[in-house]
Amino acid sequence: MINFTVGPVQMDAETRRLGAEQVPYFRTPEFSAVMLENEKLLCQLFDAPDNSRVIFMTGSGTASMEGGVMNFFTQEDKVLVVNGGSFGHRFVELCQIHQIPFTEIHLEYGMPLTSEILNEYDNKGYTGMILQHCETSTGILYDMQLVSNFCKKNHCFLFVDAISGFLADKLSMKEMHINAVITGSQKALSLPPSMSFTVLDAEAQRRCAKNEVKSLYFNYAEYLKNGERGQTPFTPAVGTLLQLNDKLKRIVQEGGIHHANNAMKERAEYFRNKIKHLPFKIFTPENATSNCVTALAPIHDGVSAYRIFEILKDEYNIWICPNGGDLAEKVFRVGHIGHITKQEIDTLIAAFEDLQKRKLI
Ligand SMILES: *Cc1c(COP(=O)(O)O)cnc(C)c1O
Repeated sequence: MINFTVGPVQMDAETRRLGAEQVPYFRTPEFSAVMLENEKLLCQLFDAPDNSRVIFMTGSGTASMEGGVMNFFTQEDKVLVVNGGSFGHRFVELCQIHQIPFTEIHLEYGMPLTSEILNEYDNKGYTGMILQHCETSTGILYDMQLVSNFCKKNHCFLFVDAISGFLADKLSMKEMHINAVITGSQKALSLPPSMSFTVLDAEAQRRCAKNEVKSLYFNYAEYLKNGERGQTPFTPAVGTLLQLNDKLKRIVQEGGIHHANNAMKERAEYFRNKIKHLPFKIFTPENATSNCVTALAPIHDGVSAYRIFEILKDEYNIWICPNGGDLAEKVFRVGHIGHITKQEIDTLIAAFEDLQKRKLI
């Protein structure tokens, strides 16, 4: 199978080789050293301010979304949540569950957050803002400069879900005044699913220290304390952390975040140029589309996006990424993260052309 989903994505040979090895015992100085290096490298790649720290959470991306909502905010806050797709909606649910006072900015799915929309919330006493960097369900890339200016002016704590956007699109904690940001192991880092990582600036750490979280597993103050010596409170996905260490070092050696962003951009553009003659419309505006994924809507009546996913899977050995909910029949996605070659993209294009010949799209 060729995997064009947005996670788990295709892993490279070195990550897979490491995955075949024994998982070592981890309460050792040797493993602590690896963890401290992981923390340093993640801070570097997120362009984090000095004294930033990382929470290594064993749990998928959603665990760190929930942990962040629980640890960074309290009932004293008044938070803006951008809901422009299924991942934005998840933050709405999390604020409801954890009783964090919030206002939802509900966007038409696939549409950008504009200054006209955001200006309505200016000077209204908001203390925090939560949004995706890339909303993976639609491929929209939010204007982080706009968000950053708003948060700076309104003294809002900015919590960003860059689970899919990290490595794919430009992101700098320093430049964008981001207080806390998440990524996940099975997205652009191309590791097995199992872990998510949150980088916290000094203010985020201060909020964790003050907050009395009603949870044992999600108590970030404990993670920060254990992290000082390169450890986690509970057994982490040790194997994934060793694969992470190898991967982060290779990303830095290959030219760091700019190189990674450019490689992903080139791959996304290669794909988008090759589908121009096909009966699909890109679901997001051109200037607000992430390098991580392209969401496509079939233009001909009666063509089901979900059916295209099924046919490619069953007859062509290719996974594209179906959408859920209201978009299931209308939109499918092609991911650009993970270890994908141009040749594999050409194979996907040929499969689409074959579907066209068979009058299925
Ligand atoms: C994948 C993803 C998540 C979380 O997914 P998990 O399945 O919990 O790993 C959250 N936000 C975004 C933007 C994502 O792409």
